[in-house]
Amino acid sequence: MTDVFLVTGGSGFIGSEAVRQLISLGYKVFNIDKLTYASSQESLSDLKSPNYNFFQGDICNKDDLFNVINLSKPNYVLNFAAESHVDRSIDNPDDFIKTNILGTYCLLESCLDYWSGISKNAKQNFKFVHVSTDEVYGSLKIGDSPFSESSSYLPNSPYSASKASSDMLVRSWNRTYGLPINITHSSNNYGPWQYPEKLIPLVLTRIINERSIPVYGDGKNIRDWVHVSDNVDAIINVALNGKSGEVFNIGGESEVNNIDLVKNICMIMDKRLARKNGNYSDLIELVQDRPGHDFRYAINISKIKNHLSWEPKINLQTGLEQSIDWMLKNEKWITKNSNTDQRLGLTKN
Ligand code: NAD
Repeated sequence: MTDVFLVTGGSGFIGSEAVRQLISLGYKVFNIDKLTYASSQESLSDLKSPNYNFFQGDICNKDDLFNVINLSKPNYVLNFAAESHVDRSIDNPDDFIKTNILGTYCLLESCLDYWSGISKNAKQNFKFVHVSTDEVYGSLKIGDSPFSESSSYLPNSPYSASKASSDMLVRSWNRTYGLPINITHSSNNYGPWQYPEKLIPLVLTRIINERSIPVYGDGKNIRDWVHVSDNVDAIINVALNGKSGEVFNIGGESEVNNIDLVKNICMIMDKRLARKNGNYSDLIELVQDRPGHDFRYAINISKIKNHLSWEPKINLQTGLEQSIDWMLKNEKWITKNSNTDQRLGLTKN
């Protein structure tokens, strides 16, 4: 029998990549998504597979969850559904607390109800994978060792605090009720279909529109970048092969500071679409820093390398050039979804 994956937030940036990969691997996929502003149905419009099923629903709504779980009877649940933009969490934490904490709780309860009622055999072939972030570990200084799976939780933004809370719930549903789980912490993702409020597509929309490119503070904040297809490959590997209860960090081993990344995007664009007067980097403008802005994230991925033989395949320069080419090809989608006048975030979330 074909394994069934229930993907939450499958119409978002990373979730849609998961749906595409799972379908191409031959799995049956059910996607439950509330279709918030950050979602895109276009990202899955090419999927004509009978193995793909979509439900519009809210992970905070137990009826929606009951319906989709009982219809799909999943072996694997991949929880991507979340509010994911740090700047929005600072302006209005409400939806972050609801979806990221309460939604994860509702999903855990619904999965536990379902899991408790299935056969012993089916119970062993079930996994709840919670997709979290490296931001739960807080901020590093230059010279600090990268975060490992045993690093303390020290979240600094409402977003990372809400993700940290949800991780704790997932851990406890495993330890208390025995629900088989894994948690993944990935660094900054980039690639096709990323909503253009996030750094890389945001810079591109500003370049295309010949508008200033705002960079927080002095631009020296450091992030690690992993291509979305590498992250999803790792998450599927964790679902299929990770020992229940284990946590895995996922990263691209590509640390770079924001200003250098932005300059790199400008240089790539100088070659693709030469500017009439000057270079695109002339558009860069340093703006007032984000409150509580984490200085550095870096992630140690030895555990997933050693336990699951996973490592990132796409290096940052190649991935960046490919992503920029994708965005140029899909300029209509990028432009339609960008509101460059809204508060601008220049880190991942
Ligand atoms: P995204 O904002 O692009 O997509 C989130 C999706 O969840 C959207 O389709 C949205 O409609 C859906 N959603 C939101 N609230 C919902 C609800 N209540 N019920 C059902 N669906 C709902 O986010 P993303 O960048 O794809 O991130 C996916 C997950 O990965 C998140 O949990 C995020 O915390 C985590 N993560 C993201 C990154 C990154 O760089 N983007 C890095 C590490 C971890």
